[in-house]
Amino acid sequence: MMAQYHALKAEAQDCLLFYRMGDFFELFFDDARIAAQVLDIALTARGEHAGEKVPMCGVPVHAATAYLQRLIKAGHRVAIAEQTETPDAARKARGSKALVNRAIVRVVTAGTLTEEALLDARAANWCVAVGEAGGEIALAAADVSTGRFEVIACDAAGLGAELARLAAAEVVAADGSDAPATVWRPRADFDSAAGEARLKRLFGVATLDGFGTFGRAALAAAGGLVAYLDHTAKGQLPFLRPPVLLAAREAMAIDAATRESLELTATQSGARKGSLLDAVDRTVTGAGARLLAADIGAPLMARAAIEARLALVALFHDDAALRDRVRAALRALPDIGRALGRLAAGRGGPRDLAQLRDGLDGAWALGDRLGAIDAAPALLADLAPRLRGHGALIDLLKRALVPAPPIEASDGGYIAAGYDAALDALRDTGSGGRRAIAALEATFRDRTGIATLKIRHNGVLGYHIEVPAKAADPLMRADSGFTHRQTLAGVVRFNAPELHDVATSVTQAGAHALAAEAAHLEELTAAALACRDAIAATADALARIDVAAALAERAVEGAWARPAFADTPCFEVRDGRHPVVEAALARSGDRFVANDCVLGDRSRLWLVTGPNMGGKSTFLRQNALIAVLAQAGSYVPAAAARLGLVDRLFSRVGASDNLARGRSTFMVEMVETAAILAQATPDSFVILDEVGRGTSTYDGLAIAWAVVEAIHEDNRCRCLFATHYHELTRLAERCDALSLHHVRAREWKGELVLLHELADGPADRSYGLAVARLAGMPPATVQRAKAVLAKLEAGRAKTGGLAAGLDDLPLFAAAAQAEEEACDAIRAEVEAIDVDALTPREALDTLYRLKALA
Ligand code: ADP
Repeated sequence: MMAQYHALKAEAQDCLLFYRMGDFFELFFDDARIAAQVLDIALTARGEHAGEKVPMCGVPVHAATAYLQRLIKAGHRVAIAEQTETPDAARKARGSKALVNRAIVRVVTAGTLTEEALLDARAANWCVAVGEAGGEIALAAADVSTGRFEVIACDAAGLGAELARLAAAEVVAADGSDAPATVWRPRADFDSAAGEARLKRLFGVATLDGFGTFGRAALAAAGGLVAYLDHTAKGQLPFLRPPVLLAAREAMAIDAATRESLELTATQSGARKGSLLDAVDRTVTGAGARLLAADIGAPLMARAAIEARLALVALFHDDAALRDRVRAALRALPDIGRALGRLAAGRGGPRDLAQLRDGLDGAWALGDRLGAIDAAPALLADLAPRLRGHGALIDLLKRALVPAPPIEASDGGYIAAGYDAALDALRDTGSGGRRAIAALEATFRDRTGIATLKIRHNGVLGYHIEVPAKAADPLMRADSGFTHRQTLAGVVRFNAPELHDVATSVTQAGAHALAAEAAHLEELTAAALACRDAIAATADALARIDVAAALAERAVEGAWARPAFADTPCFEVRDGRHPVVEAALARSGDRFVANDCVLGDRSRLWLVTGPNMGGKSTFLRQNALIAVLAQAGSYVPAAAARLGLVDRLFSRVGASDNLARGRSTFMVEMVETAAILAQATPDSFVILDEVGRGTSTYDGLAIAWAVVEAIHEDNRCRCLFATHYHELTRLAERCDALSLHHVRAREWKGELVLLHELADGPADRSYGLAVARLAGMPPATVQRAKAVLAKLEAGRAKTGGLAAGLDDLPLFAAAAQAEEEACDAIRAEVEAIDVDALTPREALDTLYRLKALA
């Protein structure tokens, strides 16, 4: 057995091996140590291997799902080794001591789950492969729980952003790749030619052109992904729909740091609660929730597609009765996408078919209702027909299945009466037999005079007669008509020829009925899978309708406005709000103060100053979130909004807010800021919150100053810049598209009142000490700080302060030009040198001249 175990373990590699032994999955050696710890179950020992006791632990097969879930959550992958023959068969074939054959039938990994119990109904579950070829990079992503399959061409810089968008459960890459993977597979799996062949075979096509134009990296990624899925499913490839080819530029570019900082679909601690998604989500189906998360994670760049989504939201927004009816209908629908995924992966059961039946039936009714709407928006006209297309399948499933079938097929009872006459006859025999057995019990009681005689059934003896031990003697006699089977403490068990005959017919009928049901299950599954692409399209259509109705619901609830789009990079938001902060304030009975934000040609860059806790970060973020929501096709939390499409969104927060991340935070801040300066275009939207704070005052001010200048002069993007460096306001004099704003505060009876209201111009003073008092700093300390401040301010008055001397600093562009001129001069000088003709003395002189130029 140990030899077999080691062979399977070698195949399982770094996965934990679940080794099936009867009713248990057993784990041995290090696997056992890990599992015992993660699962908090007893670690025992069994036999010896190489002179040592073998550590072992096990989980019962019937409860394996719950244990798997915990192991997967803890980051493990589990290979399942099943018995592939019965012990009987093994004995017959290879003698009485034969070992049962076992094989790995599946590798359970976080990225390849389909089981309802292992998945979050409201989140997608992506498995991603990274492909590289000829200097290009591409990603292939599959959610095998629904069959969605995306291939994304990107570049090294965009890789992190795409991985952050997908929040993949697993990332697969070729051995030796430096991609941020969690699983490595052989390089051969990522060969682009082999990948192309694999895809063609999978989708039964002669060319992939129908799906789009795949580059070599895309083929490598898609091929590597399919090979991995094949590996984990051991040949039974899970559900994959034809790949959707995406280019990263089709969506608003949002890098990983921005995504994290804006908390779009998860907070910085990874929770859904507290994220933008959580504050917006009013969907009523799992598929709707998954689609909304995808929409918010990848706002669109195509204005027509955004407008199409908005038109559908508007329909539901303006018609409350329609919205309520549609949402009530959707709420009752099962998750057909995931049911289909399980069936296609060969892990489906009767209940999954019933979910398809009920889901498709409900979709049909909804399609009728939505199809009847006059002057429907184009998107709805496109979606409604997809809801009504499975009449024959629905009829079949309605006739074939009982109303509420069990999850598992093993006990039968899911095929409806009247569907199959032969099955009905077997069931009649079975129930006739069971009645006959009940009648026999009465006969036996009469015959023996034992009133407590019972006919019972168990797995070992089958049907048998049971009497109390003290009454058993007469039945033991040879001529009693009963044969003794078993004596237990209080009872004795017998058989009888009449019982044996009826019992055999009941058991046989039962076995035949089970087999007949299983055959139907197979046919019905095949019938459903035959239209799996169309069913998946129906599931998608339902999800889109759910999202639109949910966004409408949210918009009505919060009095949100439909955004309008402009061809110029403007940004005009009236009375904007931050949906997450607003909801948090509402819970404590406080009111959110709405603020305008109007960026345009003359004021592209807003410099926002004001006291700590005054609402600067909130204001910055709410405008970034409004851009995300608008381009995702949602109404926005504002009285009105008009914007030019944002191609790239950036959000950076000064280092000291992020100390918890435990990295060299100032370094991170600078790396991230550098990325913005390198990438932001005039169509981008940037929010910078206290950038430069993570270092000394002089360094920080200098960096903040230079960054503002660079954004204003070079990137020329829309930008909100919050800072406590009052000195930066001097930039307004030299940057014509920079305007000054502050969050208002007032001192009232010695207390600081933060109004959270944006006003034009710089903050008139600093409120640091007032904030300190507000925060509960001891009065004596505040008093002392006041004295220190007075000294500092006196010093500043004398020297001109921190920013003294900045006034005659040439502007960013001018400085850059001076730099360039110096370089040109040096280059000219170097080119003019004829090295071979120089005397040592002249060489030295030349060096001095160059040094002077630098
Ligand atoms: P700052 O960045 O200026 O330090 P924040 O934006 O972090 O300030 O805001 C601090 C707190 O003030 C928030 O947690 C919130 O409770 C409250 N706040 C911010 N903006 C508003 C607003 N517009 N209306 C009401 N309360 C607000």
